[in-house]
Formats: sequence, C-alpha cells, structure tokens
Amino acid sequence: MLSTPLGLRPTSNVPVSCKICDGPANLFGVVDMNRPCQTPHAHRAPLSGVPIYYRRCETCGFLFTDAFDDWSFEQFKTHIYNDGYEAVDPDYRVKRPTDNAAAVSRFWAPHKANMRVLDFGGGNDVFCTSLRAQGFAEAVTYDPMVSEHAGHPDGQFDLVTCFETLEHVPDPLATIGAIAGYVAEPGAVFYSTLTQPDDFDSQGMSWWYVGPRNGHISIHTQQSLALAWGRFGFKTAALSAGTHLAFRTLPAQWGLTEVSSAA
Ligand SMILES: [Zn+2]
Repeated sequence: MLSTPLGLRPTSNVPVSCKICDGPANLFGVVDMNRPCQTPHAHRAPLSGVPIYYRRCETCGFLFTDAFDDWSFEQFKTHIYNDGYEAVDPDYRVKRPTDNAAAVSRFWAPHKANMRVLDFGGGNDVFCTSLRAQGFAEAVTYDPMVSEHAGHPDGQFDLVTCFETLEHVPDPLATIGAIAGYVAEPGAVFYSTLTQPDDFDSQGMSWWYVGPRNGHISIHTQQSLALAWGRFGFKTAALSAGTHLAFRTLPAQWGLTEVSSAA
C-alpha cells in the first residue's frame, strides 16, 4: 500500500521492535480511529472507517500503535487535539490540573518555598498557576504541543510533574529522556499514566483506556515503565495503578524512604 488515509503509517503483519525494550511486538488488536476512552461520559462520534492497529510487546507488555509515527505536531492538532477533543476528555482543561495541583500541594507544601516545579505536557498553565498561588517558589509549564508553552525551560527542577501525557506520545523513550533531563539531582518526577490491569489479557482492546480518539496510543505496563525509566538511570515506583514517582535520588527531606526501597 502506497498511501493511507490521513498520512497514517501502513500496517504490516511483520513484528516490529517494541518502542521500549526492542522485544518483538506483533499486531494485537484493532479499533476505529474515532473510538474514545470508554468512560460513562464519552462522546461517541460516528465510526471513521479508519482502522488503528495496536501491537503488544511479548517481553514487556507495552501496547502501542505505530500508525501515527510519521505525523507532525500539526497533524496531531488537526486530527486529535482539535475542537472536538474536549468532548472526549472533558476534565482536560480545568478539573484535572486543579485536582493535580491540590494533590501536589498537599504532599509538598512543607517544601514549597524552595521548590522549582516543572509541569511537562500539561497543555495549559492551570496547574502551575495554582501552585504559584499556593506559594511554590517556581512552577513552569512546558508543553511542546502548545505554542504558548513550547519554549524550553531553563535548568533543572526539584520536581517534574507529568500528568496523563505518556500514553499520548508516539515516542515514549524520547519523551521520558526529555523529562529526565529536567530533573535536578536529587529530585523526582511525579507522573500519571494508567498501567494495564491484571486482567488485561482477557479485556484486550476493550479495556476502557485504549482510545485513539483521546490520543491514547502508548499503553504501559509496570514493567515497560521500569524499563523505560531505567534507560535513563531512574527507578520508578507505583503509588497507585495510575500515579508513579520516578527518581535517581529522592531528596532526603521529603521523607520518602519507603517509596525509595519499593522501587
Ligand atoms: Zn517491550
């Protein structure tokens, strides 16, 4: 096939290398490009007729599609992060960043007067505005997909946050490497992305979090996250199924020795 709709990469039934660990990744399943995450409020657009195939790594379980690997930022903005996006992710603009700021503030408040925080991939400045208002010394938004926040931040940060972003990126190792480059030593990354549940083998592509309309194209396992962060010398510890802390050395004053030994 020489061309596909929307400039998507043609599908092949030949295994490709896993984007995380280079293990063999065969085709695993297929959904319509308009399929959103299967939440109760999901806005269901008509089927597009464009199939998106996902692959799964035999070694680390990472589930991904390479269909979008040739897309530019502009193509993502045109076809996914467009005017219809908020209908499939209604918490994106205000609720999620506000809730995340409350969570970060609760835990890190004792240290806020001296903390530099970078929010990576946040989309807007709602999260950082809230942290600044609560007295964090510095809170900077960086999102290469959003022109107002696409300027590269200066220096390194005590805490880098990255919420609901890693499942959106077609190049997970490059993104994790970029995040790692902003982390001070000592320092940490507090991030969220949902990992595959224990019964993923039986749920397969019907698991609610798989949704190309939401841009969910890189679906991790605990193992794939550990391998990915390990490439950059980081450990990662799951705080829940969806939230994680990645670090080389945790600041001693945070009192997180339990997390450190669990990773
Ligand atoms: Zn793998």
